[in-house]
Amino acid sequence: MDVSEIDAIGRTAFEVAALRAAEHRRPDRLFADPCAQLFLDAAGIGPDASEDRRDFVAIMGPQTAVRTRFLDEALLAAAASGCEQVVLVASGMDSRPWRLDWPAGTEVYEIDQAPVLKVKYEVAAEHSLTARCEPRPVAADLRGDWGAELRGAGFRAGRKTAWLTEGLLYAWDEAGADRLLDIITGLGGPGSVLAFDHVEASAALTAAITRISPRLAELWQSGPADPADWLRRRGWEPDLRELHTVAAGYGRQVHAAYDGARGGQAHAWLGRASRP
Ligand code: SAM
Repeated sequence: MDVSEIDAIGRTAFEVAALRAAEHRRPDRLFADPCAQLFLDAAGIGPDASEDRRDFVAIMGPQTAVRTRFLDEALLAAAASGCEQVVLVASGMDSRPWRLDWPAGTEVYEIDQAPVLKVKYEVAAEHSLTARCEPRPVAADLRGDWGAELRGAGFRAGRKTAWLTEGLLYAWDEAGADRLLDIITGLGGPGSVLAFDHVEASAALTAAITRISPRLAELWQSGPADPADWLRRRGWEPDLRELHTVAAGYGRQVHAAYDGARGGQAHAWLGRASRP
């Protein structure tokens, strides 16, 4: 499959898929994601156990495993509570449309760059993946005003909606994250839910990413410095957890840089927020 049109930020979707495929292979996996390997195979990405990746995998592997499970639970709970529209903002190779057992009739919108969505939906067609929802790919640039593209795909503004920003906030500066949340807030109705993860840069993470690619390190931005305040300023009621606390509940440990009890100084959050 031709992935040459996918740019550097789009290729990060395959980094996440590689971490999910590794989690899928564990006997004690926190979730099953057989699609992750299909996406990697389609892109011609083979196993990479190089020394250069070791530290990155040690930090982002546990983060991705724990966040995926936490956000699965958050989205299914939101759908069960009446969110008939789910929007995966920057969906990348997230396979939730096919992987999760959605309530009948749930519409799952997937916003990403056109070349990323093209590869993903070609894989879904090639392998006859069966979605338990109505998947609706939406090609759009999230740095613009993407509400029109979302509505054009059938999204009804003002309805109670479940939103997901996963693996995204740390690729934006504060102003970009503000604009993104303003658009989300303006599109959803009362009772909407936002599920998200966020990871502060740490010396360990910056060094690990730089070892893989200095270009990738440049993509890592601050995102909202205080996610609770970022949400409250727009009328959301945040419920934030530290990654290491959620991980402990699943019987997992995260990298020490993100575990205050083991000397870690940096925050990694998992969150749900709701709008009254
Ligand atoms: N949320 C997915 C997950 O957790 O598997 C993908 C995360 S991946 C690290 C980041 C994704 O954001 C990529 O698929 C990339 O194409 C998308 N993305 C980043 N900036 C974007 C933009 N301006 N417009 C559309 N998509 C964007």
